[in-house]
Amino acid sequence: MEPSHHLYVHVPFCRLVCAYCDFVTVGGRADDIGRYADAVRRELELRPAPGELRTVYFGGGTPSLLDGATIGSILDAARARWASVALDEVTLEANPSGRETPDWEGYRRAGVTRISLGVQSLRDEELTSLARGHTAVEARDAFASARAAGFADVSIDLIYGIGGQTLDDWRDGLERALELGPDHISCYALQLALQPDEWAAPPRAGALRWRDRMVRRQDDELAGDQYALAADLLGEAGYAQYELSSWARPGRESRHNAAYWARRPYTGIGAGAHSYDGVAERSWNERDLDAYLAGVEVGERPIAGREALDATTRAFEAVALGLRRVSGIRRSDIAAEFGEDPLDRDPAAVEEVVRAGLLELDGDRVRLTARGRLMASEVLLAFVPEAVARR
Ligand code: SF4
Repeated sequence: MEPSHHLYVHVPFCRLVCAYCDFVTVGGRADDIGRYADAVRRELELRPAPGELRTVYFGGGTPSLLDGATIGSILDAARARWASVALDEVTLEANPSGRETPDWEGYRRAGVTRISLGVQSLRDEELTSLARGHTAVEARDAFASARAAGFADVSIDLIYGIGGQTLDDWRDGLERALELGPDHISCYALQLALQPDEWAAPPRAGALRWRDRMVRRQDDELAGDQYALAADLLGEAGYAQYELSSWARPGRESRHNAAYWARRPYTGIGAGAHSYDGVAERSWNERDLDAYLAGVEVGERPIAGREALDATTRAFEAVALGLRRVSGIRRSDIAAEFGEDPLDRDPAAVEEVVRAGLLELDGDRVRLTARGRLMASEVLLAFVPEAVARR
């Protein structure tokens, strides 16, 4: 059997760029969408197509700015490129803004099976605070439209840790989300710190001022309580947590994301998209839209960089990604791959996080406790300290 392979297609277009956004996005360039779709199809031809293509994920940006025919043409190009295709999940991220009209029926016809809706909050005051371009009513309408078009698998994203959002506000937002009845819920803490990939090209001044104001209103302890509350409420409602930020109804876990956490190989197409060969190399495309288009249009993969992953980094990633999953890692798997039991690195540090109730050892299995999931970075220090220090 061919090893599974996964495809990520980045769509950088957004109507407006949100202040806190960390992704590769451009605002107000809708006229370039057709040219970009051509470039994406062309890039597919320039890239190898190994293994069996199992999942496709259209992420952004705002993929729902593309119509169903365009999404279908990219999927057709991918199906034509891979010799072996057995798609069991095709996800498309959609924005619930009422100013955009996602082509739900067209996505269904194109072969999209799963919608990931960027709801973020169902409380207008929080959406205003996040400077989002949609309201709670628009988010509900978008959810209903996706369902009406026949999507049986709809995920929503929610954000906590918003300055001024109390524990009761978050509870109320979660209850409103549960009333929608999504199949999958991702809860993310509002990320305000400058990320390593932003150090070279920090966000524009207005965005930095916005983040600075938000940071002063953030409360880490409250965010921890909000995370714990999400685990309780979603668990009671029948959603099983299977990853640090992800809850799903039975059988509705994201297969594409699961492939990342299992370190399966993936090809990233589009501006700023990352790829991983499943062994020891990661690479990424030009983030700048014009540089990306110029490269592809002269028949070159617009690669911006590649990184050879040494054994220490790979071992760290195996542990870090594995511990994101609630099921954790098996020591024997890591030992078989890297020749070393990850718990042998720094036994005293491991013992300390176990004693602190952050990590659970269950025979061969190692997993984060509910409290440990709140402090995953701290726990990782116990496993591969040198790799964590380098990041
Ligand atoms: S809509 Fe989403 S991807 Fe686009 S700028 Fe806002 S947060 Fe970023």
